[in-house]
Amino acid sequence: MGGSTESERLCYTAVIMPDWDVIIIGAGVAGLTCGCFLAQKGLNVLIVEKNQKIGGCCSSFQKDGFSFDLSVQSLGECQEGGRIWNLLKRLDLLDQIRFLPLEPAREYHFPDQKIVQSSQLEPHIENLSRLFPDEQKGIKQVYEVLKKIFNEFSRIPFSLDWFNPSSFSSQSPLLYQYRDKTYGELLNQYLSNTFLKTLLSIRTSYALLPPEEISVVGMAGIEMSYFNHGVSCVEGRVEQLPFKMGEAFEKMKGEIFLGREVEKILTGKKGAIGIQLKDGLQLTGKAVVSNIDARTTFSALLGEDQIPSGFRSKLKGMRPSLSYFILYLGIDGDLKELSVSNNEVFPDDQLSKEYRDLYEDRIPEEAPFYLLAPSKVNPSHAPEGKSTLCLSMKAPHHYSRDWDQKVIDSLSQSLISRASALIPGLEKRILVKAETTPRTIQKWTGNLLGAAYGWAQIPGQSGIHCLQRTTPVPNLFLTGHWTSPGGGIAAVVASGELTAGAIWSKFEKGDLSEES
Ligand SMILES: Cc1cc2nc3c(=O)[nH]c(=O)nc-3n(C[C@H](O)[C@H](O)[C@H](O)COP(=O)(O)OP(=O)(O)OC[C@H]3O[C@@H](n4cnc5c(N)ncnc54)[C@H](O)[C@@H]3O)c2cc1C
Repeated sequence: MGGSTESERLCYTAVIMPDWDVIIIGAGVAGLTCGCFLAQKGLNVLIVEKNQKIGGCCSSFQKDGFSFDLSVQSLGECQEGGRIWNLLKRLDLLDQIRFLPLEPAREYHFPDQKIVQSSQLEPHIENLSRLFPDEQKGIKQVYEVLKKIFNEFSRIPFSLDWFNPSSFSSQSPLLYQYRDKTYGELLNQYLSNTFLKTLLSIRTSYALLPPEEISVVGMAGIEMSYFNHGVSCVEGRVEQLPFKMGEAFEKMKGEIFLGREVEKILTGKKGAIGIQLKDGLQLTGKAVVSNIDARTTFSALLGEDQIPSGFRSKLKGMRPSLSYFILYLGIDGDLKELSVSNNEVFPDDQLSKEYRDLYEDRIPEEAPFYLLAPSKVNPSHAPEGKSTLCLSMKAPHHYSRDWDQKVIDSLSQSLISRASALIPGLEKRILVKAETTPRTIQKWTGNLLGAAYGWAQIPGQSGIHCLQRTTPVPNLFLTGHWTSPGGGIAAVVASGELTAGAIWSKFEKGDLSEES
């Protein structure tokens, strides 16, 4: 990857015009989506990635014959008509990536019962209505609100003036009505049974937040991106998705620099004009897009003196999402004990309780955890007669200062012994072990404190309060899970597409002119 030599490029920079129409910092799924859309329009686009491979969080690794997906296990919007499906169609990649539907989506294990959740909205509502017949109307109302908010948010025109309440409230009435509300408040508005509210709140943990903190708009994104077009996983390794996108990008004459870290965003009279790499190489572009951690973008790469004080203090006050501790296991034998591949285990029905500890940098001993068996749906992840398991739980970065082996072993041991309740004799079957900590995630992606989903989707930071794709610095744009609509693969694909749209409209209008 990479075409002309560095000295040629430097020379070119100094003498003539910007090297690139657009430079994108980071080859996460959002950066790749944005790059593909712009390259497809005929723009000259460079993506610079610090790692030796593209994909960011959406990566995989191999160990002793087993294959593991680093983080992303299930995706929304992959079936026909969904956001990811549409992206692949547009890039002519539909025949190169297969999605395997996960139906049922999950099994929830409570101490005295199991609940199976469908990946389709109607059967899900029917199932809950059967369990709670008196609450049928309220259940439907909750999903009606989420559906409408998701649709309104997906259709917001670029031109909408968020700060003009009359235009906002008439064009997006539900979004306006719930703009400062939490999902917990929505549930209380329509439902009364406590366990039903718990069941409807389980998926708030996908944003690593309890129901009383996550915004209605954040939850609408989580629920509807799954329910609208089913829940799937990528056949084979999940990193095939970014890899194929990277190939499509290069076919459209886009360039990717791998293993090159961006150290600075260069500015001139008209705003962002390029980047400087860690090795000192400077590259110029008419527009710069950051797909990386927003605080690093503004504080380290740009310099705080370049942004208005109001924006600086908003950024300082923003809260990242929590992170994960993940244990990957290659094990002997199949996993007939489990009826589905995705399981969630709860020690009780108090979903919000664990956050009190997490916010004080503790992991409660009996925290809920995920037990995924990827090779049940993706047999290629394990050699014949063997299986893969992925045990994980929420974890704050500051739980440990060094995340040394002692800490890792103790968390791993606790997960293994708890998972043994579902898979008897698990410990003796382990052949391969690997772990990911918040520290590893931070190192790999550059995401602040290993945040799994960018900013926490609380009302003050999501929906209309999210960091916008345009920034106070002209010609500098954001894409990915640190901007709207938020975290998760389907959401960052949307973000990449929307950022590309904003940039392309400027090119079309001739607003992105050159500057020496
Ligand atoms: C443990 C975990 C589990 C998850 N599970 C799911 C799931 O099941 N389903 C789902 O939909 N989502 C899931 N997510 C969320 C999802 O993976 C992310 O929201 C999404 O991948 C973020 O994509 P992005 O493009 O915004 O950024 P990232 O993936 O963070 O990519 C940013 C890229 O920028 C690069 N970079 C950083 N700094 C620099 C620099 N200075 N110079 C050059 N390059 C740089 C990084 O190396 C990285 O490649 C999970 C996330 C985690 C961490």
